Amino acid sequence: MTAAAPVRTRSADATEGEGRRLAARLRAGDVVNLEGDLAAGKTTFVRGLLGGLGGEARQVSSPSFVILHTYECRRGTIRSLHHVDLYRLHGTPEELREVGLEDTLSDAAAVTAVEWPKEAVATWVPIDARVWRVRFTVEADDSRMIEMFEPGDR
Ligand code: ADP
Ligand code: MG
Repeated sequence: MTAAAPVRTRSADATEGEGRRLAARLRAGDVVNLEGDLAAGKTTFVRGLLGGLGGEARQVSSPSFVILHTYECRRGTIRSLHHVDLYRLHGTPEELREVGLEDTLSDAAAVTAVEWPKEAVATWVPIDARVWRVRFTVEADDSRMIEMFEPGDR
């Protein structure tokens, strides 16, 4: 798995900027797994993803209670961004299917960003989909360390 050099962000805007930077590299069908503690910056990063994909970044709010939000956007063949937050789920395959994750992840005209990805998520990721992994760590000075792992090694 290829890891880009970690980036440190010192503001929410900068975290959003990193999301925009990744958005430029995404293709329709890609999955972005977001790992890190509560308040680490995952949702902020998704705001950047949506903005970078030509959507309205401000629309993004934490989907914790709804589990799935779908936003319209437009870049190349990417027409929507699915934003999933599995924090409240145990992550059994049955539960993930009930949420509709199977359809979400196999949407060939969308990018799916997953907060708190559970192991079972991989069950529903199409074999040819590219999966990115982004890891957020809150540092002692409140800055965020963001590590990006490119698709390739699953
Ligand atoms: P998560 O989705 O991981 O729970 P959020 O994206 O909701 O986290 O972010 C939690 C808080 O952290 C928000 O108030 C956000 O503005 C703030 N934040 C994000 N990045 C940074 C940063 N680099 N420095 C300081 N605060 C940040
Ligand atoms: Mg969040």
